[in-house]
Amino acid sequence: MARIRIRCQKCGKVEIYEPDAEDLRRAEEIGLTPISFHHGDHVLVVYFDRNLHIRRTTIYKSVEEERARPSVSVTGAFLKVRVPSIVNPSAIEGTGLKEDEKAVLSLIDGRRSISEIAMASGLSDGEVLNILMRLEKLGIVRVGRRRVGA
Ligand SMILES: [Zn+2]
Repeated sequence: MARIRIRCQKCGKVEIYEPDAEDLRRAEEIGLTPISFHHGDHVLVVYFDRNLHIRRTTIYKSVEEERARPSVSVTGAFLKVRVPSIVNPSAIEGTGLKEDEKAVLSLIDGRRSISEIAMASGLSDGEVLNILMRLEKLGIVRVGRRRVGA
């Protein structure tokens, strides 16, 4: 079966997609079929024709991620390998942490990545990142990179 291979011009991610019967029917009827790939803060939309030739690609900003966007720009892949650890528990005392900050802190075990903490806490990646940046500033937490094989 023929496939479409496209490299996102914004983040460089390579997508491979195998069109189904419905896609091909649409391409036949309308001339072009759009397919979208969600890349965190943006969406890559690819239009292909019935010969599976890519005719147009567009990058859209993703509104959902935009709302919770942290002050630094990060990708999902980055958040999967960044692992926070508590380096100075005594610094927690007297800082008057908010509920969501406490929730994030309770999920830090030196193994969970930022995206795993976000998932477990119900907060967005951006919210967790902002909280971690604050906790890091307070000297409570240090965010490191996941060790290979960990
Ligand atoms: Zn992309």
